[in-house]
Amino acid sequence: MTRPSLAIAGLTACFGCQLTFLNCEAELPTLAGLFDFTYFPMGSSRREIGGEFTAALVEGAVSTPDDLETLVRLRSRSRVLVAFGTCARWGGVAAMNNHLSRVAMIESVYGKGAGPTRSFNPGPLHRFVTVDFSITGCPPEKNELLATLAALLHGALPVFPQYPVCTEC
Ligand code: SF4
Repeated sequence: MTRPSLAIAGLTACFGCQLTFLNCEAELPTLAGLFDFTYFPMGSSRREIGGEFTAALVEGAVSTPDDLETLVRLRSRSRVLVAFGTCARWGGVAAMNNHLSRVAMIESVYGKGAGPTRSFNPGPLHRFVTVDFSITGCPPEKNELLATLAALLHGALPVFPQYPVCTEC
């Protein structure tokens, strides 16, 4: 049987979400037998996005033209695209200053006339492409990552319980 093909990628982020995957030390040998990790730049020397993916887990916000190009390429090659972590789901640190003037911020660091370096504000994946599923958390819980991988193995997506944050509401 052909193993499902996975991409695990990072955009503008701290790599902490991808580290959650590498921290699954006890499970990694099993996972390596179940999936073909076709594109995982943080964990392998393969750098080219090639072929088709059963699923792509994408960490981080879209902050640069390179991020956008990577995301669009992964989306076009993946049956399922997962926003992996809070930055990918909500924009995270990269999008926290979107309410401020980009020109003013860039000039405060690089001097007057430095100007804007991109034509869009950083944002979560769903602002740019269709996202099929999200795993939140900064970084995500290991168990939710493993549950997601188990569901993908069976051609499905997991259902996580919803916990109320306020029992008075
Ligand atoms: Fe890092 Fe947290 Fe963003 Fe993941 S969600 S990339 S751990 S800041």
